[in-house]
Amino acid sequence: MNSKIEHMDSDELQDLVTQTKKQLLHLQTLGVDGIQLTQATSPPPVMKPVKVNAETATSKSTTPTASANSATKATLETLFGTTATTPDRLEATGETFDDIHSDIGNCTRCPLHRDRTNICHTEGNRNARLMFVGEAPGADEDMQARPFVGRAGQLLTKIIEAIGLKREEVLIGNVNRCRPPGNRAPMPDEAAACKPFLLREIAAAQPEVIVVLGNTAMKNLLNTREGITRLRGIFQDHKGIKVMPTFHPAYLLRDPSKKRETWEDLKKVRDYLDSTAKNK
Ligand code: URA
Repeated sequence: MNSKIEHMDSDELQDLVTQTKKQLLHLQTLGVDGIQLTQATSPPPVMKPVKVNAETATSKSTTPTASANSATKATLETLFGTTATTPDRLEATGETFDDIHSDIGNCTRCPLHRDRTNICHTEGNRNARLMFVGEAPGADEDMQARPFVGRAGQLLTKIIEAIGLKREEVLIGNVNRCRPPGNRAPMPDEAAACKPFLLREIAAAQPEVIVVLGNTAMKNLLNTREGITRLRGIFQDHKGIKVMPTFHPAYLLRDPSKKRETWEDLKKVRDYLDSTAKNK
């Protein structure tokens, strides 16, 4: 491997660096917080992922355990800046949405690709202060290749306008980008295949607040087993970004009496954004 590198021209080297960086970012979104570099004469250097914890805990508890922490400090040379010592902060990645979407490509990573018409990427203002995350596209979204454009989407647009913003001013995405058959919730393996791309978009856009809509979005972003009824209205954390869980607009269409609580949750988001606006 080393001798191959020695014979690479600068374009090939640049390509290798870019591919390696992408792979590392992908591992990072899966919860790998360091790479152990073992120098050996033969075989060549081994890159061994350490401690994958993508689905284990809340963002607070993604902090390595005490024993893992000391092992990490003792043996790891982190390739992710300060994340080994401050794993709760989101580092800027320098990636663009176009990089991420071209990585997704004509995705076949999970079974949902079989029935989709279109992939629905996150859309909106890529410098937004506020992001909304839902579950997965429905029939209208699948047809139009855009998130939240059906009845639930129209209600989401009204919710956004109710806090004084336009839809184009915020970011809107989903945990999964392909429509699950019959609008069922994505299975854990389907969510796990797609979520890393959402996490990369969040790292690229660095919104100040993310509103997670309903149980699937909340559980996937916060890695929690708590239900939406328990956590809604209470700010949570995703690596330093405030996360507000609230009801999914499709649920509000079925039970309009829950709109009042949703409005209370969204007022907290509006007030928080107003309170920090001068810092922008
Ligand atoms: N429901 C979702 O969770 N996302 C959409 O994009 C549409 C409906």
